[in-house]
Amino acid sequence: MTDVAEAESLILEHMQSLSSVVRPLSETIGCVLQEEVLAERDLPPFNRVTMDGIAIKFNDWEQGLRRYHLVGSQGAGVQPLTDIKNSECIKIMTGAMLPDTVDTVIPIEQVTINQKNVLVESKISISKGQFIHSRGSDRKIGSNLLSPGNLIGPPEMAILASAGYSKIKVSESPLVACISTGDELVNLEEKILPHQIRSSNEYAIEASLERHCRAKVTRENLKDDPKVMLKKISDLHDKSDVVILSGGVSMGDYDFVPEVLNKLGARPIFHRIEQRPGRPMWFGISKDHKPIFGLPGNPVSTLVCLTRYVIPGLQHAMGLHHKQPETTYLAEEVVFKANLAFFLPVKLKAGRNGISLAHPCPTNTSGDFVSLAQTTGFIELPRKQNRFSEGTVTKLFRW
Ligand code: AMP
Ligand code: MG
Repeated sequence: MTDVAEAESLILEHMQSLSSVVRPLSETIGCVLQEEVLAERDLPPFNRVTMDGIAIKFNDWEQGLRRYHLVGSQGAGVQPLTDIKNSECIKIMTGAMLPDTVDTVIPIEQVTINQKNVLVESKISISKGQFIHSRGSDRKIGSNLLSPGNLIGPPEMAILASAGYSKIKVSESPLVACISTGDELVNLEEKILPHQIRSSNEYAIEASLERHCRAKVTRENLKDDPKVMLKKISDLHDKSDVVILSGGVSMGDYDFVPEVLNKLGARPIFHRIEQRPGRPMWFGISKDHKPIFGLPGNPVSTLVCLTRYVIPGLQHAMGLHHKQPETTYLAEEVVFKANLAFFLPVKLKAGRNGISLAHPCPTNTSGDFVSLAQTTGFIELPRKQNRFSEGTVTKLFRW
């Protein structure tokens, strides 16, 4: 049996990098960047005024001047006014480029303007250069803003737009075949008999893949029939980057997945992980070097294995920089006797001191996916330990 960390690294080792594609910026949220992004200009590109107010020469203020002669008004997006003389000021707006001949901004709330006369409150204290975001103080022209492997979220979108990238090279969305297997499974539209169940795993898998990997998913539902499975899995494999199966990987008479994959020429890397739930997870590589995940069919196991192994594997294939897993604190003691890693669903809630804690939400067997409703994800409690006291720091995996 493979241990959790070993299973994780075997998967990462066998994932093939996805190709890259150039996309319009607005279509790249959630993508992984595949090129370096450089500052087109200094940031900010000019001495940017950060308050609506008046601009003065600090030297005048130092000399004790509190009454200024107003010689103009300047908004954002216009050429700066020139030739502002001693004891003169201009009105200036947030976002405007500060003229060279002034160096300090006083907020509009601290002045009284009477036609061309501006009186500054005498009690305020001001400092030279205040309310000016100076040119290049964030980044210099040509400096690195983002790197390959960065995930594009809302801040990265703004950075890319600011640097003038209307198109950008990102990793391709993975094409994933998501196949449920089981004679008892019935599609949503079909009439259901007492001994059957609705097939739900593929919907959960698709939702997670879209959320975390922008994957394009093809869903399929197969009976436990090795011939049909062989043909269908082969076809779907050819059209995908990755195949994810759920069900049929255990020891039952109708668990044909490992056998069928073997017939397809796939090479098993491991089959069983020292964990609960999800012990009989299968992972291997097809003849074409595509990863194939055989997840156990019990819905809690399916989702845990998907989140713990498949998602990080796909993110690795997308070129995402490895991120440290999130951690949390156990809200109460947990005892788990088996010599297996324990994945325990939790809800994060703030404790008395405001720190968020993981409250266990055990399920009623790994078939009880209904108890997962409104949970945050699950924590990983390592093997070889039975008792985990309140406050234990654990890894957290969000759905
Ligand atoms: P298996 O891994 O095929 O032995 O299935 C284990 C349990 O998970 C059985 O009770 C199945 O009915 C259930 N199961 C398998 N596939 C699905 C699915 N796609 N949706 C919901 N439950 C499933
Ligand atoms: Mg089955």
